[in-house]
Amino acid sequence: MSDNPKKIVIVEDEPSLIFTLQDTLENEGYEVFIAEEGEQAIEIVKKENPDLMLLDLMLPGMSGYEVCKKVRNMTYTFPIIILTARDQEIDKVTGLNIGADDYMTKPFGVKELLARIQARLRRSETYSKAKPINDLELDPVTIDLKNAKAIHPEEENELTTREVELIRYLAAHANEPVSRDALLENVWRYEHSTNTRTVDVHISKLRSKIEEHPDDPRYLVTLHGVGYMLKIE
Ligand code: CA
Repeated sequence: MSDNPKKIVIVEDEPSLIFTLQDTLENEGYEVFIAEEGEQAIEIVKKENPDLMLLDLMLPGMSGYEVCKKVRNMTYTFPIIILTARDQEIDKVTGLNIGADDYMTKPFGVKELLARIQARLRRSETYSKAKPINDLELDPVTIDLKNAKAIHPEEENELTTREVELIRYLAAHANEPVSRDALLENVWRYEHSTNTRTVDVHISKLRSKIEEHPDDPRYLVTLHGVGYMLKIE
């Protein structure tokens, strides 16, 4: 095993398949993380910043499609290989449209899966795909997303996990209008008792942390009747 094993997240709810995949991948020297449902997968991604994801589509709760979309909306670019029992063409198209890189239909051979994983990892290294955004320069403020801090020339503000997620989403759609509904869906995931007012309150709090003049924001602007936009020059 190398000093820096590649991290692979397996998102799968079938115990026997989890067992086989975990065993096979660990034998190959990969560091393996298991998520049996979508929310857990998202948490692992945020915590571990993995190198690759194996993603089942039929999961309890959040579907594999939603997991894929969320990971891409959070601006992570590691390869995602979809594993599914379905083999309909429409699923392949949908899967690849939402940002998956490859697709394997169950049952599949372990050797073929390993070959595809290696190919994807090589490719993502070769093209050195963009890493998730860790720093964002909102002059004179630097947003350190990894350590959840807004660094002003004279002070630092701690950011909450939600604020970091909010910034990541807005940064992934920088200079585009983002509706409150899009934020509710992608940042709050329609949690109970949230509404567009929740979004406004959080945006306002976030502004006070990242803007020099929160009442006259330079970066996180309101688009009346539309929503918000993170303006990055
Ligand atoms: Ca399943």
